[in-house]
Amino acid sequence: MSTEAAARTRAQWETQARMLRPEGRALIGGELRPAVSGRTFDSVSPIDGRVIGAVARCEAADVDAAVASARASFEAGHWRHMEPPQRKRVLLRFAELIRGDLEQLALLETLDVGKPIRDSLSSDVPAAANCIAYYAEFADKLYDEIAPTGPKDLALIRREPLGVIAAIVPWNYPLIIAAWKLGPALLAGNSVVLKPAEQSPYGSIRLGELALQAGIPPGVLNIVPGYGEEAGKALALHPDVDMVTFTGSTEVGKLMLRYAGESNLKRVALELGGKSPQIVLRDADLEAAASDIAWAIFYNQGESCNAGSRLICDAGVKPELLVEIKRVAATITLGHPLDPETKMGALIDAGHMRRVLGYIDTGIAEGAELALGGHQAMPESGGNYVEATILDKVQPATRVAREEIFGPVLAVSDVRDEAEALRMANDSIYGLAAAVWTRDMDAAHRVSNALRAGTVWINTYFKSAMTTPFGGFKQSGFGRDRSPHAIEKYTDLKTIWTTFR
Ligand code: NAD
Repeated sequence: MSTEAAARTRAQWETQARMLRPEGRALIGGELRPAVSGRTFDSVSPIDGRVIGAVARCEAADVDAAVASARASFEAGHWRHMEPPQRKRVLLRFAELIRGDLEQLALLETLDVGKPIRDSLSSDVPAAANCIAYYAEFADKLYDEIAPTGPKDLALIRREPLGVIAAIVPWNYPLIIAAWKLGPALLAGNSVVLKPAEQSPYGSIRLGELALQAGIPPGVLNIVPGYGEEAGKALALHPDVDMVTFTGSTEVGKLMLRYAGESNLKRVALELGGKSPQIVLRDADLEAAASDIAWAIFYNQGESCNAGSRLICDAGVKPELLVEIKRVAATITLGHPLDPETKMGALIDAGHMRRVLGYIDTGIAEGAELALGGHQAMPESGGNYVEATILDKVQPATRVAREEIFGPVLAVSDVRDEAEALRMANDSIYGLAAAVWTRDMDAAHRVSNALRAGTVWINTYFKSAMTTPFGGFKQSGFGRDRSPHAIEKYTDLKTIWTTFR
C-alpha cells in the first residue's frame, strides 16, 4: 500500500469521495454506453445512505449486445490467438494498472460495499491485482499433451478456450471475486461478460476501463451492470454463452443450473454460501484460537462466504474461550468505513441489516443467550451498522445454527468430545470451509480428514494464497477459483488424432 494512502485521514477520504464521479455506464465492445432503454438505477452507499451515482440498468437488449460483442471478439481471435508472451504482457499490464489505481479502486470499493478503507487498500485491491498477475504467468508456461499411442499414430490433447464466459458476481468482495473469474478465463483466451452485483457495480466498471487501457482488445471484456432478475437472468439464459461462472447465494446458484438446462446446457461453475464450523477441542491454545475465531466472523462485517460462523466448542473450555473472544472483539473497532482506524464497517444495505438483526432475535427466541452485541449501531449515520454479536447455547437444530446469516453473528454450541463435534460440524447443507483447534496433531488430522469442506484449517483461519484452490463441497458449490485448477473450468479438451500411412 502506498504510505500516502495509508496516512490519509477520514476527512481527506471524505473530501476525495465527494469529488469522485464514478463511471456508471456499461462497457460493451470497448465503448462505455448507457443502457439501451436509457434507464438507470441509483447506487446507494451503505455507509450513510447517500446516492453515489446513477448506474446503467442493463437488461436483455444490453446483454444481447455484450454477448454478441464477446462472440465477435472470440471469433476474430485477436485475443485467443495472441502470441503467449504478448498475452502475458497485456495481463501483467492490467495487473499493474490495477495496482496503480489503488486509491480510486479502494475508495469505490469502500463506498459501494461499506467495508473499511484499510481493508480495501491493504487487501481487496492488491489481491485483485495479484490474481491477474498470477494467471498472466501461465500464458507461456502451460503445455498441452501427447497421448501414449502406437508408433504410427499421434494423438494431441489440446486445451482450448470455451468461448463466451458469463461471470456473475456478488457484492461482498466485488474486486477480488471478479479477478478470480477474469484471471483464468482471460488467460485461457475466452471472451467475458461480467455482471457485477447491483449493490457494487463501480469497481467492476473501472476494471473494464483498465483492461482496455492495458491492451485487452475491445469486446474481450464487457461489463453489464444491472439487477440479477434482469441482466443476470438474461445472461444465464443466453443461448450464445458457453459457460456461466457464478459466485453468490445457494438459492440463486440453483437457478443457474435451471437456466442452463432450459437454454443451451452451458457449463456452470458455482461458488455459493457457507456456514463454516470452527471446532475447538479441550487442549487447544485458547488465546491463539480466540484471536482467529473473532476475526473469522467479524472481518468484512461477517459478510464472507467462508466466515467461521459456527463455534463448536468443548464445554470444559468454552467459558474461558468466550472471555478471550470478547476481549479480541472489543479491539475490532466498529465505525465509519472511511476512518482508517475502523476495522468493521457497514452491512451492504438496510434490508440486509434488518435480516441480520432478525436472525439475532430469532436465535434468542429459539433459546440462545446473547453473549455480546446484538443491536444496530450508529443509527444516526443513515448507514447499516450491526454490533459484533455472539449467541451462546445455540442448539444445533435451530435456524441460527443452520442458515447463513452473512453478518457479524457467531453461533456457539457446546460439545462433550471430538466425535460429537465432528457430527455437529458436518451436519450442514454447506461445506465451504472449517477449522479445528487442538495441540494434538493426531486429533487435528483425524478431524480434518473427516470434515466435509473445501478448505480445512488447523490452528488458523482465513489463511489463503493464489496457489490454493477455493470452493466448496455439498451445497457450497462446485468448481474451484484460484490456483492452476481454476484454469481447467474455462477450457475444454480436444483430441487431434493423426495416423501415418
Ligand atoms: P446473490 O446470489 O443474491 O447474487 C449474486 C449475483 O447473482 C449478483 O450479481 C446478483 O445480481 C445475481 N443474481 C441474483 N438473482 C439472479 C437471477 N435470478 N438470475 C441471475 N443472476 C442473479 O448473492 P449476494 O447477496 O450478492 O452475495 C452473497 C452470497 O454470496 C452469500 O450467500 C455468500 O456466501 C455467497 N458468496 C460465496 C462465495 C464463494 O466463493 N463460495 C464468495 C462470496 C460470496
